[in-house]
Amino acid sequence: MNTLQVKIGNSLYIGSDHPIVVQTMCNTHTNDVEGTVAQCRRMVDAGAQLIRITVPGMQDVDNIRQIRDRLRSEGITTPLVADIHFSSETAIAVAKVVEKVRINPGNFHPDHEMARKQFARFLDVCKENGTAIRVGVNHGSLGKYITELYGNTPLAMAKAAMEWLQMCIDADFFNVVVSLKSSNTVVMVQAYRELVKMMQDEGHVFPLHLGVTEAGGGDSGRIKSCVGIATLLREGIGNTIRVSLTEDPVNEIPVAKYLADKFAEPVKPAVEIKDRVAYVHYDSTDRTRIMLDAASELGPMLLDREVDDIHIDCGNEEYSNYLEDEIMQASRRRFYKPEYIACPGCGRTMYDLQKAYEQVQQKTSHLKGMVIAVMGCIVNGPGEMADADWGYVGEGGGRVTIYKKNVPVLRHVPEAEAPDKLLEIIQAEL
Ligand code: SF4
Repeated sequence: MNTLQVKIGNSLYIGSDHPIVVQTMCNTHTNDVEGTVAQCRRMVDAGAQLIRITVPGMQDVDNIRQIRDRLRSEGITTPLVADIHFSSETAIAVAKVVEKVRINPGNFHPDHEMARKQFARFLDVCKENGTAIRVGVNHGSLGKYITELYGNTPLAMAKAAMEWLQMCIDADFFNVVVSLKSSNTVVMVQAYRELVKMMQDEGHVFPLHLGVTEAGGGDSGRIKSCVGIATLLREGIGNTIRVSLTEDPVNEIPVAKYLADKFAEPVKPAVEIKDRVAYVHYDSTDRTRIMLDAASELGPMLLDREVDDIHIDCGNEEYSNYLEDEIMQASRRRFYKPEYIACPGCGRTMYDLQKAYEQVQQKTSHLKGMVIAVMGCIVNGPGEMADADWGYVGEGGGRVTIYKKNVPVLRHVPEAEAPDKLLEIIQAEL
């Protein structure tokens, strides 16, 4: 799909006919300059082309400056993206420091008119400094003014993004990438398609950053990301991708590179369709490769309802059956276990997220069809877990808050007791 071209730093381009850019995000604390620099080094070695770092407040602007300077002094020129939530003043300050700033307009400022004013100021600073931006709308954190008009829908996500893009167009500022993430692959795909239509009608098509947010980790996180991202890439939508996993972020890069390479050219998978069932055979002995191939080839067909079921033959019946179940669930066609939403963690994370995610899965694996979110911080987590029946959120200080839908039902639970408490509360409601 033909898009505008965005320049990030001196030599990285996103959009137009440039190859798909692979990016990731640090999960270290930004005030841990040493640790963040070390993680960036490992990311660059693994092939990251763009690295995002959270900047929770003004005090971290200097931290990201130090991180940038340390990386540049080591000859690492990979552009940095500052991730901003809530503080428009921080966005304005950090736009002078890094190559790109990601903002979530739904929480740029609590008052919508003020948000627009601050956004205009922010664009002026970006223009002066040659800074690119990402308008990153998330399904879980749409502003009230939008949900009142359009509900909590893919259309609402696209409309929300379009308002900010229109402001960029009016300000003659085109160094903009846009994303519309959801943990639900169907919502995510529909939202991007809605936005593409709107941008085409308007006449300015900005490059798209794709991702399935809060995809979790392990095979499920990889499969969910492949299904959502591949569905759009196969139709030419998507210019940069992040596969978010609740793991060491370096693990995200091989999956993202796999997708970027696979969809560098149009792909026609060797799938046979009979009676709306897709049959596929894999000869490889590499289980990860089979998983990624199956998810990115069969998932889009399920998600777009071209078929109703899948049959995988990879020479190992148990693994084939497992992949079929996982891909059916990731495409939201058949649920065989609980649906876990888990954020990847970032510099705001308030507990050992990977451990919490594993413990919650162990305790709740029998609750088929239930949606359970495990989120790293109390600041953003509750707002981001849109579809969850239950939420398990790090408070800091070794405590967890348990949510039913978006309502906290038990606060300050010690971490050691929290997985059991979660199960107890859920079972009391069954
Ligand atoms: Fe970071 Fe997770 Fe909090 Fe999002 S919810 S800001 S990824 S810790």
